[in-house]
Amino acid sequence: MPDHPLHPTRIRQALAEATQRLGDRVDAEVLLAYALSKSRSWLIAHADDLLLSDHAAAYAWLIEQREAGEPIAYIIGRRGFWSLDLEVTPATLIPRPETELLVELALERLPADKACRVLDLGTGSGAVALAIARDRPMAQIIATDASSDALAVAQRNARSHHIGNVSFVHGDWFAPLDDRRFDVIVSNPPYIEATDPHLQQGDLRFEPISALMSGSDGLDDIRRIVRDAGLHLVPGGWLLFEHGWNQGGAVRALLRDADFAELSTAHDLEQRDRVSIGRRPVAGTCDSP
Ligand code: GLN
Repeated sequence: MPDHPLHPTRIRQALAEATQRLGDRVDAEVLLAYALSKSRSWLIAHADDLLLSDHAAAYAWLIEQREAGEPIAYIIGRRGFWSLDLEVTPATLIPRPETELLVELALERLPADKACRVLDLGTGSGAVALAIARDRPMAQIIATDASSDALAVAQRNARSHHIGNVSFVHGDWFAPLDDRRFDVIVSNPPYIEATDPHLQQGDLRFEPISALMSGSDGLDDIRRIVRDAGLHLVPGGWLLFEHGWNQGGAVRALLRDADFAELSTAHDLEQRDRVSIGRRPVAGTCDSP
């Protein structure tokens, strides 16, 4: 197999050797399925087939990339998120399963029969905006990103899934939005501390640093988002954003200082703080300034 592409190998054996090299059976299967343009279940059903030498050579190359640390999602150019199979490139963060919590919490605040206005800040591959758009066809969603390369990926994802209720806007956070207001604002912003050693480990080494890191305490971008969100929410509108497991207290304090109400923090499947939520107060009361 990989080391000797001219020597005929069966699929079963190629997978066994790759699993040993990569230390991961799923990775070995995903890469071989990609090299052959087949599904993983096809591989299992054809375990005794011989690999053509071209395919074995392609597989060897993919395994080398993976051994060098390249994330699987970038090698195959795809990652599943919510109900969508999305294109991803090194210009975009790789969508994470825990970010589906942000989608769930946004959907809870978006009645299916109303034309709600939604803003997704820093959309990357478009994962959050497109998941919301798919489940709320009546909603009108604007998705922004400071990276035009990321926006191009997000736009291709919208097209390939025939999702027409998202518009993509280039710019830094709220900068391109003038005074437009929304019912719900969502974001998965960068929130990792500049000195966090995880930035030098695993997939994160290959992902865009601007989508991951945000100043010395990881909160630079969240501070900007919380500061300006009130100007872009209708009264009663919601701000929801993802953050690090240890940032719940700090982000709720930021929300409180910016006069958000109904603050809460939702936990991911590992019971860690993951998404914080605040609501723009509905209207002035007698004692408000
Ligand atoms: N959740 C990602 C991680 O910690 C970071 C994503 C982000 O900064 N938005 O790997």
